[in-house]
Amino acid sequence: LNGRGLRVNLARMHRINFYAGGGLDRASHLRNDRAWLQSRLAAPESQVVLVWRTQSFVVTGAEPRPAFLSGHETIAMPGLDRWALLGLKGEQAFFAVDISHIEQPQAVPQLQGRGEFVDLRGVGPLLPREEGSLLAYARGLMYWHSRHGFCGVCGAATESAEGGFVRQCSNPGCKAQHFPRTDPAVIMLVTDGESCLLGRAARFVSGMRSTLAGFVEPGESLEEAVTREVFEEAGIEVGDVRYHSSQPWPFPASIMLGFYARARSREIKIDPNELVDAKWYSRREVLDCPNSDDFRLPRPDSIARRLIEDWVHGRA
Ligand SMILES: [Zn+2]
Repeated sequence: LNGRGLRVNLARMHRINFYAGGGLDRASHLRNDRAWLQSRLAAPESQVVLVWRTQSFVVTGAEPRPAFLSGHETIAMPGLDRWALLGLKGEQAFFAVDISHIEQPQAVPQLQGRGEFVDLRGVGPLLPREEGSLLAYARGLMYWHSRHGFCGVCGAATESAEGGFVRQCSNPGCKAQHFPRTDPAVIMLVTDGESCLLGRAARFVSGMRSTLAGFVEPGESLEEAVTREVFEEAGIEVGDVRYHSSQPWPFPASIMLGFYARARSREIKIDPNELVDAKWYSRREVLDCPNSDDFRLPRPDSIARRLIEDWVHGRA
C-alpha cells in the first residue's frame, strides 16, 4: 500500500489492540526522497522518538508519555547514523533515531531534564495507545537495524537506505537488500463449551496463566500452526480455528495473530519444556480471577488478555 495519504480509519477498525493504531501515514512514497528526508530530519517541527539500546525515551510518572525531541534538537547530537522515517501526521514528520552509540545519554545536553530511557514493556500499558504504538514501532525498527549490520548472503557490511526501511549490502558484487523483519506468531485461546485452557510457562510472573502461543514455521498455514502448537504444548487436539485480531509485538520482532480454537479432546499432556502447568478453567473461575500470586491474567495490553476477556464476556 503505497497510496499517498493512506491513514487507517480507526473508527472503522473495530478490533484495535494495544501497540496497533499509531495513526501515522507511513508515507512510503517519500522514503526515496533523500533531500526531503534530510530536511525533515533537521526540521524544528519534526518529532523524534529516541531509542537507546532497546529502551524508549519517556517522561515517567503516574501518567507517562513519550518524550519527543524536535528534529532540530536531535541532529545536533554526535554520530547519528541510525534513523528511520516513521511517517507523517498531517504535514508533521515523525522519525525514530537510535542513539545506542552514546555511552551515557543522560549526559547529552539536549536530553537533560527531558525524560528517561526505560523499557517500553514496563510503561507501555500506561501510555495513550496511539503513543504507545509509536514507541513500539520505533523500538522494533531500530532493533532490526541493530541486528542486521551485516549481509546474511555475503557477510559484508550493510547500509541503511529508503528512509530506514532497507539495509543494502555494501559489496558491489552482492547488493542484496534486506527488509525489516516481523516474525508471525500465533496465539490462541482453546475453548471447550464453558471452559478454556490456560497454561503457565516458567518465565511468567508469579501466578500468571495465559493462552498458548508459538511461532509460525515455514510452509505452514496459520491454522496449522495453531493446531500444531496446541497439540505440542498441551496434547489437546483442536478444530474450528477462528481468527480474532492481531497485535504488533515488537519485543523484539513479532506480530501476534490471535485465534480461538475449539477442543476436540480434553486430556491435557503438557510439554515440560514449554509449560510448567496447563488447566481447564471455567468461565466463572476466570471471571472471579483474584489477580494474585495464585492466579492472575496476562497483562492488560496483551492480545492474550483480550482473547480471554472477549471469550469470558461472550464477545468471542
Ligand atoms: Zn551481501
